[in-house]
Amino acid sequence: MGIKEIIRKGKRCVVLTGSGVSAESGIPTFRGDKGLWKQYRPEELATPDAFMRNPQLVWGWYNWRRGIIAKAKPNAAHYVISDMEKFFADFMLITQNIDGLHRKAGNKDILELHGNIWENKCFNCGKRYGEIMSEKLQKCECGGYLRPDVVWFGESLDREVLEMAFLKAREAELCFVIGTSGVVQPAASLPYVSKESGAYIVEINLERTPISSIADEFISGKAGEALVKMRELFLHGSG
Ligand code: NAD
Ligand code: ZN
Repeated sequence: MGIKEIIRKGKRCVVLTGSGVSAESGIPTFRGDKGLWKQYRPEELATPDAFMRNPQLVWGWYNWRRGIIAKAKPNAAHYVISDMEKFFADFMLITQNIDGLHRKAGNKDILELHGNIWENKCFNCGKRYGEIMSEKLQKCECGGYLRPDVVWFGESLDREVLEMAFLKAREAELCFVIGTSGVVQPAASLPYVSKESGAYIVEINLERTPISSIADEFISGKAGEALVKMRELFLHGSG
């Protein structure tokens, strides 16, 4: 069976996305030449250790990222993925992105594995705070510093969200892996779970990744351009 047939007959689909999906919206990825901010590598800033050492630095970096994301709009890739949600009877979007662009493009069934950049919480007591746009680090009423409510390197993911992601990956007949380097765990394991239960794996990326070795189909190119070419399949149910 070719991909068109599989898409037409498949009912259960998961899509795993990474920062490459938002690259065409002008949001820098972590791995890639545009990843640097004032000479710091993201891996050195998105950690609890970095925040403990220099909370203002980490907060300032997130404020810079929030500024970029506030101006960004969903691109063609986000919109085709929202067509996919309407097309498949059982669909789940599992994203590592924290920019909220999938929701803006119309997706509703989303598991945000790494949280959302607009939310904040106290590093000390965990109290939740909403959107704050400020260059200056803020304090909680308990005296602790506020941090973005995203999952940093070395931190655990929300258990319920993760369990649901693994369940959906296991049940899927079709699994799309789009714009992720496939090296950040546990997200990178999800396509393997789908593969083990017999799903057809389609990967879209500029370059091959560790996941490419299990992909039934590897589409080389920009997510937006590749998905626009497939869009017809998700509008009428046949290609
Ligand atoms: P990554 O930065 O590690 O890898 C990006 C991947 O996207 C690479 O494999 C690259 O080849 C590919 N890519 C780049 N441009 C592309 C395009 N136009 N079309 C298709 N593929 C493209 O990203 P990751 O795998 O998501 O993992 C790193 C972490 O980065 C995640 O935890 C995520 O939360 C965080 N992050 C999120 C955002 C965002 O929300 N937009 C931005 C940067 C980093
Ligand atoms: Zn507090």
